[in-house]
Amino acid sequence: MSMLSTVCRNLFGGPATLMYPVKPREPVARARGQITLNESLCDQCGNCVRRCPAVAIEIVKEKKQWILHPDRCIICEVCADACNRNAIEVLPKWRTPFYEREQIVFQSRGGKEVKEKAGECPTE
Ligand code: SF4
Ligand code: SF4
Repeated sequence: MSMLSTVCRNLFGGPATLMYPVKPREPVARARGQITLNESLCDQCGNCVRRCPAVAIEIVKEKKQWILHPDRCIICEVCADACNRNAIEVLPKWRTPFYEREQIVFQSRGGKEVKEKAGECPTE
């Protein structure tokens, strides 16, 4: 009897896998997909650069750029923990595969402007 119920379940129960890519799998909660920057919060302090074990973040202060090298990033979340301004977010969505090295450039608003907005710097 139990054999019959197993056969019926397998025959009429539908597929055990998802019909990818027609029906992509939803990421689980707290999945480490990729990191991103909230540009309006970053003050270019450099904490994330110093703490990143994979040397995947670069800052160009003159241009107020925050640059991520996704081919080096191991999505360890250390940078997000190191950021006092909560400017780095870990998204649960995975980045699409890429075949050539690329860098993702974010435009930080820069130190003084952000600190003034947050009320941490008295205005002269
Ligand atoms: S998630 Fe880890 S490896 Fe990626 S940029 Fe942040 S600290 Fe570096
Ligand atoms: S992301 Fe955070 S830790 Fe990194 S430079 Fe910007 S404010 Fe500093």
